[in-house]
Amino acid sequence: MSDIKYKRVVMKLSGEALAGDAGQGINPPEIRKVAEEIKEVHDLGVEIAIVVGGGNMWRGEAGAQMGMERAQADYIGMLGTVMNALALQDNLESIGVPTRVQTAIEMRQVAEPYIRRKAMRHLEKGRIVIFAAGTGSPYFSTDTTSALRASEINADVILMAKNGVDGVYSADPRKDKNAVKYDTLTHMEIINKGLQVMDTTASSLSMDNNIPLVVFNMNERGNIKKVVQGEVIGTTVEG
Ligand code: UDP
Repeated sequence: MSDIKYKRVVMKLSGEALAGDAGQGINPPEIRKVAEEIKEVHDLGVEIAIVVGGGNMWRGEAGAQMGMERAQADYIGMLGTVMNALALQDNLESIGVPTRVQTAIEMRQVAEPYIRRKAMRHLEKGRIVIFAAGTGSPYFSTDTTSALRASEINADVILMAKNGVDGVYSADPRKDKNAVKYDTLTHMEIINKGLQVMDTTASSLSMDNNIPLVVFNMNERGNIKKVVQGEVIGTTVEG
């Protein structure tokens, strides 16, 4: 454990990370790649909680734009994250990693309900806990869920694994060639500059509860391990 910087982490996996090139649906071979990397970190003895997104299935905001009631559309989004969580659980368990899924909306036939103390006990016992159904409330995001759960379980850091982007930039590097990468930022700077990292609710919750965030590219193999071992990659957000 000596070369571990973060002992307990909350990892935010967007729905996109579980989808194939199409960016939609569940792609088991794609999930396998992520699962194998997570296993490597788990093998180091790091306690890992994962918050899964659902953007590969459905986004409440998009539903609302098409005329649905926002809260109803958000519940669909939260249920989408549960499907992702089950797929990730299946994959992790198939390579020998013990896991538990906890949902913020009860569905006891498929997962445990979210119980903070039980989640912490699972982590202590070396199980990966996958948090599904977001916060259980509409109008929030799974980024905010990450900040909330990280605060609740006293995580050392939120690891924000991005698809193909290696940190936080002043503008979208895929669209603007003058975009500059930040090595370090504060949560307040993210809010003030309107940077597209997390939504404002997630940033302010992380700031208020002093939770650092590391944003890095998960398409480069070994990056999750590098971050937990303290190698400086991506963008670190603190303070
Ligand atoms: N969602 C919600 N409350 C939460 C978390 C998520 O209503 O606490 C809904 C919301 O509609 C969101 C969808 O679930 O669009 C999927 O989550 P998110 O967009 O955060 O997924 P990601 O972009 O990380 O894949």
